[in-house]
Amino acid sequence: MIDLRSDTVTVPTDGMRKAMARAEVGDDVYGEDPTVNRLQEMAAALLSKRFALFVPSGTMANQLAIRSHTQPGQEVIVESKSHIVRYEQGAAGALAGVQLHWVPGERGIMSAEQVEAAIRPTDPHSISTALICLENTHNAGGGTIYPLATIEKIRALAAKHNIPMHLDGARLMNAVAATTLPPASYAQHFETVSLCLSKGLGAPVGSLLISSDRQIIDRARRFRRMYGGAMRQAGILAAAGIYALEHHVARLTDDHSHAKKLARLLQQIPSVQIAPQHVETNIVIFDVTDQRRTPAEIVAALKEQGVLINPIGGLSYRAVTHLNVSAKQIDEAGAVFMRVLTP
Ligand SMILES: *Cc1c(COP(=O)(O)O)cnc(C)c1O
Repeated sequence: MIDLRSDTVTVPTDGMRKAMARAEVGDDVYGEDPTVNRLQEMAAALLSKRFALFVPSGTMANQLAIRSHTQPGQEVIVESKSHIVRYEQGAAGALAGVQLHWVPGERGIMSAEQVEAAIRPTDPHSISTALICLENTHNAGGGTIYPLATIEKIRALAAKHNIPMHLDGARLMNAVAATTLPPASYAQHFETVSLCLSKGLGAPVGSLLISSDRQIIDRARRFRRMYGGAMRQAGILAAAGIYALEHHVARLTDDHSHAKKLARLLQQIPSVQIAPQHVETNIVIFDVTDQRRTPAEIVAALKEQGVLINPIGGLSYRAVTHLNVSAKQIDEAGAVFMRVLTP
């Protein structure tokens, strides 16, 4: 089976499993797990920040950031199709008691003008803007890379209004691999950054919340405990994260070239609408016009031929390349798409 549903489907390699088995561990709630501590130091250094906190999921990392930066009754600016809006079960409202202010971006990218218009006035009638969240790369936008110039403009606005910024960097390393910019060139503009080890980096579990602000990290550590995310001998998992950062970052560009190849193959199919120039990293979003079949039927027909993808609403579908998909499998998947989607 060629599984293109998500880069979360990756399984640990033999090398990663060996590193996990060998990991030195301790009780991380006491701060005594040397492998967790090492991962946290590595991740902080990677982004040129001071601290990092290992957490079970990217959702938790984002939610700890939102909770730690805000008070109930405040507002957080987010892009309408962001992970925080769509895929976190309303946690910002349910757990942090904040209201999300949706801004519709272009393939997930909000302009500085849009963000400026969304910042609330400070008069006593108005709800107050407590945080601005960006997502890089943008998942539902199609793996879009946030242009650094746009981030810089938004940062300048945020600084003028004294509003902190959080980056949902679940796939930040994909942006780094694609642009070859140093990770810190993005991270420097944010008080907090979340980073997923369990996407294209190929670890089975784990994310990090990274910041130079000790108070924010201390608050996040308490909320991590409240949210049930404080783990004990988590070094077994952190070892996978260390292995991922050491071995699986540079190879992300393979996933990107596979995605571009897949986009070119899809473009040759008459029933497919796709803009290959919009495939910037490892996510391929495309439309299929088919009068005879529903999206569920199309996905089932592809599955029968050995290719898994996700329908994402309307006529749209998402295919994601990753560690466990080879160049040869991309060609095979292209042939299956051609067979199944040709009317
Ligand atoms: C996957 C993802 C997350 C976190 O997902 P978890 O499944 O909770 O680890 C956060 N943001 C984005 C953009 C993602 O794609």
